[in-house]
Amino acid sequence: MPARTGAQFLKGLRGPREVWVGGERVKDVVDHPALTGAAHALAEVFDLQHAHADVCLAPDPETGEPIAVSHLAPKSREDLARRGKALRQVSEYSVGLMGRTPDYMNVTYAGFAASPAEWGAHGNGEGYARLVDYQKFLRRGDIALTHTIVQPTVDKALGDAPQVGNEQALRKVGETACGIVVRGARVLATLAPFADEIAVYPASPLPQGADDYALSFCIPMGAPGLKFLCRDSVSAGANRFDHPLSSRFDEQDAFVIFDDVEVPRERLFIDCNLASYNGVMATNWPPNVQQQTMIRASVKLDFAWGLALRTAAAINAADPETNRLIGEIWSYAEFTRTAIVAAEAEAREWPGGLWTLAPGPLHALRSTLPIWMPRVAEILRLIGSHNVFATPSAAQMADPDLRRLIDRYLPGAKGMAAEERIRTFRLAWDFAGSALASRNEQYERFYLASSARNLARHLAFTDRSRADRLVDRFLKEPY
Ligand SMILES: Cc1cc2nc3c(=O)[nH]c(=O)nc-3n(C[C@H](O)[C@H](O)[C@H](O)COP(=O)(O)OP(=O)(O)OC[C@H]3O[C@@H](n4cnc5c(N)ncnc54)[C@H](O)[C@@H]3O)c2cc1C
Repeated sequence: MPARTGAQFLKGLRGPREVWVGGERVKDVVDHPALTGAAHALAEVFDLQHAHADVCLAPDPETGEPIAVSHLAPKSREDLARRGKALRQVSEYSVGLMGRTPDYMNVTYAGFAASPAEWGAHGNGEGYARLVDYQKFLRRGDIALTHTIVQPTVDKALGDAPQVGNEQALRKVGETACGIVVRGARVLATLAPFADEIAVYPASPLPQGADDYALSFCIPMGAPGLKFLCRDSVSAGANRFDHPLSSRFDEQDAFVIFDDVEVPRERLFIDCNLASYNGVMATNWPPNVQQQTMIRASVKLDFAWGLALRTAAAINAADPETNRLIGEIWSYAEFTRTAIVAAEAEAREWPGGLWTLAPGPLHALRSTLPIWMPRVAEILRLIGSHNVFATPSAAQMADPDLRRLIDRYLPGAKGMAAEERIRTFRLAWDFAGSALASRNEQYERFYLASSARNLARHLAFTDRSRADRLVDRFLKEPY
């Protein structure tokens, strides 16, 4: 099947699945008030790939059918540039607010399938072959995947990985004629209500003896025993004047419980193979997936800069402090853009032929964006001040008598109409202060692990030889 349309995507979501929102088991995620906005936004993402087919689609290497570019593993610098354009097109749809549009997992699995040195090592040849078959299914069916790779946090003093005998973490508990049975939980699965399937793959390495926890697989969202507990919704109703962003971009995050779930053997990519589990994520996964994450971040920062300029203009805040604050956002946007350019310039090929951007600049962004993004939101709130709340609703605007008064008493500076001023500050609040904004801040802080963790791990992603040479000059000179 070629790349899906939005209507085909929505039809796929109507199948069985156990998704909970509040106290309710959701009957239909497409129509549920807390989910319908994002379901339809994601459908627009599927439609967008057809509207911009020249950018977003390419022939499947085997069938020739048009598939999403994000499903293809880049095999050259040109392929990387092409994928970058497609990723940007999707990111611009949500101005970077939906981090886990399906292209995130498309890119991940295209990279996995193109990495035999990682996934086929340590006697995992059969698992790798199944993964390659699965990726064909994914790209040809244009399947939307959610993923969960982090173990539940119970006692941080015991470390990130489950100790042997841990009863909370996902593990294998049995075999069946067709596969294995898994039990336990994982956090979180962003996009879960809107996915067709869920992927489990490694994050933190596991300790010796924890073989039962060393699993990787993909199964349909409706697999019996699979339960998704969504966090409280931050979706704010359908009115796009009142809630231009939170009416549609709440991609949701869910706690996942595997209550004795059968995983068919053909969907099992790592089956209690500790060496394989601990090895597959260590090389090309970060720079591969971070092409998507950093392009998204760049789009979001460009949007934030534009929004800051408009909010300041709406009240003619042209003082040096406001300009300094806006310049701060611009500098984050520019650093992000240029780090991607640098990573493109230093792009590299991996064994197996996969091309990725250079890991170093992307890892620097991964460590720093969790600090910059909350600051960007803070700046928008500082510029917005009380104006973000002097924003009558669509219903108030529709009242003829109120509208006359609103137009008179709430104009913007330099002749800006009240409606434009109100829309500007509503957009700023939805981006920087609403419940969606608060969730998004938490996402930016943690979705690729915390800044603290990434800074501490920087040596794994860079070459210290230049720095060593500069220091050695002084440590080794004769005296
Ligand atoms: C909105 C959201 C969506 C997510 N979506 C997904 C998803 O789709 N799939 C998925 O698998 N996971 C997802 N996650 C989970 C995410 O991957 C984890 O939250 C992330 O790995 C960080 O978890 P942690 O508690 O281990 O963070 P930590 O790195 O432990 O950070 C927690 C706190 O501890 C501090 N800290 C860390 N290390 C140290 C140290 N050595 N010394 C002192 N302080 C330290 C940090 O600064 C931070 O304040 C999501 C998380 C969020 C918030």
